Amino acid sequence: MDIPRIFNITESAHRIHNPITPEKLATLGAALRLEAGERVLDLGSGSGEMLCTWARDHGVVGTGVDLSRLFTEQARRRAEELGVAGRVSFIHGDAAGHVSDEKVGVAACLGATWIGGGVAGTIALLARSLRSGGIILIGEPYWRQLPPSEEVARGCLAGSIADFLTLPDLLASFGGLGYDVVEMVLADQDGWDRYEAAKWLTMRRWLEANPGDELASEVRALLHSEPARYAAHTREYLGWGVFALMPR
Ligand code: SAH
Repeated sequence: MDIPRIFNITESAHRIHNPITPEKLATLGAALRLEAGERVLDLGSGSGEMLCTWARDHGVVGTGVDLSRLFTEQARRRAEELGVAGRVSFIHGDAAGHVSDEKVGVAACLGATWIGGGVAGTIALLARSLRSGGIILIGEPYWRQLPPSEEVARGCLAGSIADFLTLPDLLASFGGLGYDVVEMVLADQDGWDRYEAAKWLTMRRWLEANPGDELASEVRALLHSEPARYAAHTREYLGWGVFALMPR
C-alpha cells in the first residue's frame, strides 16, 4: 500500500510537500495560538514537518497518517532529529475514514483533500476527531486568476476550471458548510517555486543515479517539460492557502 512511485521519486528530498514554506508554517503555528499539550491530528502528514516543528516550538502532541511509506519514515526520522519523537507519532496507512481515538484541538489536512473525497468531505471527516472549541485546518489550492480556458486549467494539472474556486468563493464556501474562517496563511509564488522547482534537482540527481529504472524515461520527460509548464500555468494561475475553521 503506497502512493504512486513517481511522487516518492520527485518529492523524496522535500520536507514540505506543498507550496507553504518553513517560515509560513511557523507563522501558521503562531497564528493558531497553540498551547502546550494540545492534540493535533494531521491526515496526509507527508514528511511530518508541521507536526514535528509545532511539537518543538509549541509543545503540541500529535499523530500523522500518510500513505507514503517513504514520507512516513522521513517523518519519524525528523521527529528524532528535532527531539520530539516522544510527542508525535506517524502511522503509515490510508487516512480515508481515519478518526482519532481521543478528540483533538487541531484536525488538519494540508494539500490532500481527496482523502475525504473533496473539501467538504474532508472537513466532515476531520470534524469527527475534533473537540468542542477545536480548529480544523484545510490546505487547498484556489485560482489566483481564473484560467481563460479549460486548456489552461489542465496546464495547471487541474481536471477543469470547476476543480477550484477563487479565494473569495473558497472562503465563502466554508461559510456555506457552516464554518467560520478564523485564520488563514496563504502561499505565494516563491513558496510555489520551493515546492515545484525543488523537484527538478531531485529528478536530475535521481536520473543520474537510476538511468536504467523503468520510470527513467517518464522522469526525463518531466524534467524536460515541467519548468516551462509550471511557469506558464501553475505559478501564474494557482494560489494555495491554509484555512483555519471553527464550526458555527
Ligand atoms: N501535508 C503534507 C503532505 C502534503 S502532499 C505537507 O504539507 O507536507 C499529500 C500527501 O498525502 C502525501 O504525503 C501523500 O503520501 C499523502 N496521501 C495521498 N493519499 C493518501 C491517503 N489516501 N491517505 C493518507 N495519505 C495520503
